[in-house]
Amino acid sequence: MDQSSNHVVGVDNTFRKKFDKEEYLQRAREREEKEADGRKSKSRGPPVQRKPLKPRDYQVDLESRLGKTQVVTPIAPLSQQAGYYCPVCECVVKDSANYLDHINGKKHQRALGMSMRVERSSLEQVQQRFEASKKRKDTGSFTVQDFEEQLLKQQQEEEERKQRRKRRRKRRLQRRNLK
Ligand SMILES: [Zn+2]
Repeated sequence: MDQSSNHVVGVDNTFRKKFDKEEYLQRAREREEKEADGRKSKSRGPPVQRKPLKPRDYQVDLESRLGKTQVVTPIAPLSQQAGYYCPVCECVVKDSANYLDHINGKKHQRALGMSMRVERSSLEQVQQRFEASKKRKDTGSFTVQDFEEQLLKQQQEEEERKQRRKRRRKRRLQRRNLK
């Protein structure tokens, strides 16, 4: 080994990083100040008033792509990826349960400009609601009786179809035997 090279002045040959503690302390202080400023300016702004939660006015579509086959490539746009795409948040969730959780969730509602708080109903609103549902029951288009009748009808139809099929098969067999 060449001994003289070890004594070259100004070359760090310890191969170990030395931290300038003073410099980093200074940097840390600056960062802390900056963060504190950010916090202050955030809290200074008036709180954002979002609209109260509203019921959905559309049917959630979970089944339109059920049983279908689709080629998915990683470079396809998000809306054509596997899973449920939320155009509001531009994200994809992998199954229907998670999709429901997502569209009922805080992040999604916030993107729609709503808070998670529900508007308080007044006494009149509740009474009106009761009245409306009472009226609907009176003119009720669909009762338990209706349901049972319909079920019976369907069963009868199904039975008839079976009988018809049986008869057809029988006739076919008879014809074949005659030949
Ligand atoms: Zn969303």
